[in-house]
Amino acid sequence: MNENKKHNFGAGPCILPESVLCQAANAVIDWNDMGLSILEVSHRSPEFESVVLKTQLLVRELLHIPDSYAVLFLQGGASTQFSMIPMNFLKGKSVAAYLDTGYFAQKAIQEAKHFGTPVIVGSSRDKQYNYIPDYYDVPSEAAYLHITSNNTIEGTEQFEFPTQGIPMICDMSSDIFSRMVDVRKFDLIYAGAQKNMGPAGMTMVIIKNELIDTITHEIPAMSDYRVLEANNSLYNTPPVFAIYTAMLNLIWLKDQGGILGIEQKNIKKAMLLYKEIDENPLFYGLAQPAHRSRMNVTFKMYDESLEKVFLTFATERNIVGIQGYRTVGGFRASLYNALPIESVQVLVTVMRDFAAELGLHAPLNDLQGAVGLARQATS
Ligand SMILES: *Cc1c(COP(=O)(O)O)cnc(C)c1O
Repeated sequence: MNENKKHNFGAGPCILPESVLCQAANAVIDWNDMGLSILEVSHRSPEFESVVLKTQLLVRELLHIPDSYAVLFLQGGASTQFSMIPMNFLKGKSVAAYLDTGYFAQKAIQEAKHFGTPVIVGSSRDKQYNYIPDYYDVPSEAAYLHITSNNTIEGTEQFEFPTQGIPMICDMSSDIFSRMVDVRKFDLIYAGAQKNMGPAGMTMVIIKNELIDTITHEIPAMSDYRVLEANNSLYNTPPVFAIYTAMLNLIWLKDQGGILGIEQKNIKKAMLLYKEIDENPLFYGLAQPAHRSRMNVTFKMYDESLEKVFLTFATERNIVGIQGYRTVGGFRASLYNALPIESVQVLVTVMRDFAAELGLHAPLNDLQGAVGLARQATS
């Protein structure tokens, strides 16, 4: 055990299980007693090819992925998928449908403009992206519908996925493996690994073979799903260490009772923190309750002038990574799979202690009074 370990609420790269870090560290020195580091072994060696295979099998097993889908481990982050998707699927079609749910959805929309016309079929921009909009008027001629299941920065999450009769594409970067989803509802799922899967450097794509078969035009090889699938993610040198560590992390996940097991823990962690946010007179949540993310909890203080003081108070108690994204402000506590519930308990206690130091005792009903008291206490 690392006694120096912080309570890491960072949004990504983020906390990984300590046992996974230890195994990965050992493999950097001597992988499987081969007398070689994992960093020194050919990606074409049978040893590494079996890592790719095993990681794919774990992904398939954990998410119940049918054989009619390919599982790819690519590079360039989720951000590269923003352009690869329209590059592969928008050709010859005039429009693609996008749901505008926040910062990363916006980035995907911007990239699609290089290849065609993204049509925004729903947006929560009117309320600072604090909810997931409905999307009913999806044009039937659209090449696909692109959605973002979890909005990492705004702290909203989509729990229902109405299908539309056109290919469904989903950015699941920040909630993949945190809960069970029915993969068969989607034609392409992608996720940057650094939020719930492993270290940065690898992007997973789960793609229906039928969708790959629709590509007929010329595309640069590194962006062509046909080439990447035909070479089983080994068209060029893949991110060897990121794939290996993701494999270790998925073995860890399996030992936690798989996705259903971790989902129950994630629900408990999120409930614990949202309850405190709702009850503590100093704080309020940003997302509408029905769309609250279990992975990224965004909140602010009624009295913004106290936010810096609280951040210092929390940092002194070994809590890191809770500062909100620069465009949102306030706080964001990310509760990814590897974060133990004990860390959430520590954060909740620190929030209560802070209120107590100001002479407040949660829960208080009179918020105005509470903020007034808080002001007095700090002035
Ligand atoms: C982090 C994130 C991205 C960007 O991922 P990169 O791997 O840094 O390109 C895209 N979408 C979502 C939902 C994210 O959380």
